[in-house]
Amino acid sequence: CGIVGYIGNQNSQGILVEGLKKLEYRGYDSAGIAVFTKDGLQIVKSLGRLANLENKLEGHPLVGSAGIGHTRWATHGKPSDANSHPHTDETHKFSVVHNGIIENYLELKEQLMAEGRHFSSETDTEVISHLIAREYDGDIVKAVQKAIQFMRGAFALGVLTEYEPDKLVAVRQASPLIIGLGDGENFIGSDIPALLEYTRNVYILNDGEMAVLSRDAVELMTIEGNFISREMITVDWDA
Ligand code: GLU
Repeated sequence: CGIVGYIGNQNSQGILVEGLKKLEYRGYDSAGIAVFTKDGLQIVKSLGRLANLENKLEGHPLVGSAGIGHTRWATHGKPSDANSHPHTDETHKFSVVHNGIIENYLELKEQLMAEGRHFSSETDTEVISHLIAREYDGDIVKAVQKAIQFMRGAFALGVLTEYEPDKLVAVRQASPLIIGLGDGENFIGSDIPALLEYTRNVYILNDGEMAVLSRDAVELMTIEGNFISREMITVDWDA
């Protein structure tokens, strides 16, 4: 039900967890984060309150300067550790957080399973990580665009791949998502209050648009891949 993401030079774990706290008001049953660490893309997630996630992170801190986070309000698959986001594929090279519903997920899941892919959750979201992994051919932006063509429904996405650790891909289709612009760091979030502690400069994504974030730049495009320009908004209110 809430998404945050960070790519920059600071350690990301605290930024992600603090951002998720600002999104608690939206309601949730579980939470998790994925961070690029020196040992690759690592995920820690937990059923229940953010305090549960923080407890797990205390025993297993994720050190790295890019990551995504999620608070889940279950729609498909009971609230559980396994069904919490971020989700990944069998190679664990891709990581996805998702708000919304993939309406045709059963059909996609059956197809992907027939192709020999194994699922580790009951969520609609997990099909997205498998689709992206299947479509990946050296370019995460293209893989996400191809995966989206198979998906029907509402989604805001944050996507990371170990193959391209300098990129964070964000997509908005009928679920809110904004981009926060920093100095040597950039952010994604479900709403402005999640980012206000770090930046007041934002782009609001429209439906059918996506963003590719790196530490020093943000590119905006349609989900078909046509580049777009957007006026930056400077937020002058406090949460
Ligand atoms: N449909 C997804 C799930 O049940 C995402 C729910 C959400 O927006 O939190 O895992």
